[in-house]
Amino acid sequence: MALTGIQIFKLLPKTNCKECGVPTCLAFAMNLASGKAELDSCPYVSEEARAQLAEASAPPILPVQIGKGVRKFTVGGETVLYRHEKTFFNPTALAAKIKSDTTEKDLKAKLSAWNAFQYERVGLNLRPEIVAVEDAGDAKAFAQTAKTIAETSEFNLILMSQNIDAMKAAVEATRFKNPLIYAATAATVDAFGALAKENDLPLAVKADSIDALIPLTDKLVGMGLKKLVIDSGARDVKQAFEDQVAIRRAALKAGNRSLGFPTITFPCEMASNLDMETMLAAMFIAKYGAIAVLSDFKTESLFPLLLERLNIFTDPQRPMTVTEGIYEIGNPDENSPVMITTNFALTYFIVSGEVEGSKVPSWLLIKDTEGLSVMTAWAAGKFAGDDVGMFVKKSGIMDKVKKKELIIPGYAAAIVGEIEEELPGWNIIVGPREAPHLPAFLKARL
Ligand code: SF4
Repeated sequence: MALTGIQIFKLLPKTNCKECGVPTCLAFAMNLASGKAELDSCPYVSEEARAQLAEASAPPILPVQIGKGVRKFTVGGETVLYRHEKTFFNPTALAAKIKSDTTEKDLKAKLSAWNAFQYERVGLNLRPEIVAVEDAGDAKAFAQTAKTIAETSEFNLILMSQNIDAMKAAVEATRFKNPLIYAATAATVDAFGALAKENDLPLAVKADSIDALIPLTDKLVGMGLKKLVIDSGARDVKQAFEDQVAIRRAALKAGNRSLGFPTITFPCEMASNLDMETMLAAMFIAKYGAIAVLSDFKTESLFPLLLERLNIFTDPQRPMTVTEGIYEIGNPDENSPVMITTNFALTYFIVSGEVEGSKVPSWLLIKDTEGLSVMTAWAAGKFAGDDVGMFVKKSGIMDKVKKKELIIPGYAAAIVGEIEEELPGWNIIVGPREAPHLPAFLKARL
């Protein structure tokens, strides 16, 4: 159970030495309680107090890192029930399941197809992270399939078997990739716990209910394991959804450490077709699955899930931005048009995409508006005419072009006069309101 600021304060040295960066031990205690400070910032905490505080200040849902390489990911580490309270931190990892009796040819074809599902959006590469290999009954084939995936693809692994010998062989072959072992159950908790501990790997725990999970996680934590992922066993949609909410609430609101772990969900075991699986995965991305396992990746189901995930796990209090400056699109020269817009990432990528598509080499000026879109920035006074004019002057664009023409967004037409005052001799042109009209607009001006 998390400690209050006052409880933490009682364990601090109370010297008010300020070395932690705040004026008093009480202020530090309050910051620690609200997650705004790190315990290591105070060098004078006794070992005994440190042990108590480390336990109390641990995140309510432990973060667990899985995998290696470019597709490694962290799950858990969440601190709120609703993203508007703060933000959700670690995006739901997406997995596709494959059986270990899949032929080598089919496996390679699948991996090749799944690897191609990578989408550039707002400067990010959106892609799935995991292949879940399910033991089809032959331990050797299970290990070999897992090894092939680990060695020949970027994908990280969930190893799914109830056979401890098969699991040992698969772990031996893929340990270097930090796979998730799935899953310890009441019957196998000792053997799977020992295997995970010996290899320092993350371990999933499966039970028939939330109540039945608690003694299992307690036992594994007692064995020294912290990298746990939990599965309440529910495969009925309503029950699975209720379990996700109950686990998140128990960890965050009741301080239940036994349930303070990320969860794994199995849409592939809850639906008979990929469309329904996709809808269930969408539900678990929103509430509160840390991993969602599908039966396959198809672009028409994966892409919307990746976009949903991007939106849900973006900090709602901090718009995504791009850096202020001059952006060259298509090798512009001194006669190329000059446009300006705001640094809201979505605005930048939509506008730059349309300009690129027009094949008209252009200069695009991006003004810092703290991530606001054009209309909002204008209304908030962050895209005012004098500001824009001053930014154009100091941006350096005047050294790059002969033609003194600036195209501004249609939604900012009201600032033309102010810019003209700030930029004497420049012709300020009002462009289209919507980015898709830019190509025709630019071509008409050639
Ligand atoms: Fe108190 Fe430690 Fe901060 Fe010094 S560094 S003010 S002892 S909390």
